[in-house]
Amino acid sequence: MWNGLLDLIYPPCCMLCPTPGGRFCARCESALFHDNHSACPRCADTLGPYSSCANCAGKKFHFDGVFRLGVYDGLLREVVLRLKFADGETLGRLVGQTWAAQCRPQFVALNLTCAMPVPLHWRRRLSRGYNQAEAVGRGIAAELGIPMQSFRLWRVRATADQKALRRSERLANPRGAFAATTNPALVGKRVLLVDDVMTTGSTCNESALALKKAGAAAVFVAVLARATDGVNGG
Ligand SMILES: [Zn+2]
Ligand SMILES: [Zn+2]
Repeated sequence: MWNGLLDLIYPPCCMLCPTPGGRFCARCESALFHDNHSACPRCADTLGPYSSCANCAGKKFHFDGVFRLGVYDGLLREVVLRLKFADGETLGRLVGQTWAAQCRPQFVALNLTCAMPVPLHWRRRLSRGYNQAEAVGRGIAAELGIPMQSFRLWRVRATADQKALRRSERLANPRGAFAATTNPALVGKRVLLVDDVMTTGSTCNESALALKKAGAAAVFVAVLARATDGVNGG
């Protein structure tokens, strides 16, 4: 009732501009949720006129496919940047929910068992107060009616960590030590791995490898924005 009164006095406006209306106004919704280019189903890079992907031809990934909301540009870029601040949590959830609602058939066709965010380094999570990938994932999971599982998926940085070690330490630090071992809760699961930006795809690839090693049957990636180079993403 109180909220109803408040809405009368201050009509809710678009989350991204001052236009009155709930969630997203027609203009922002169209700018945000309509990808003007077709994207590669394997790596989410923008496809050229001949529909063959110059980016991932010959490359092997541990994930089974990538969906993107759009290109890291314009309004989507603004949204991704806003999600890096503490007040972006609601926006992240609503973007995820609207995306899943609009692309429901594509998501449902994957026969997903759960969604999972790409983890944020704990130090960054502490300073930001939340993980933006988790907020987006929560919105998607709620809309699709699948559970959101935030397993302690390691940031598998075995190669970077290995480089910092001396040779003797490297040998004592077996390959794959950072990947999860078989996890009964993941065996046979079809996971939707959610992140905000994909640049090289290496972060998602490493996470997908860890999930597969833990027993996941399939890993699909949902990224808000696909960037090319010069952008700070994984
Ligand atoms: Zn708007
Ligand atoms: Zn590709």
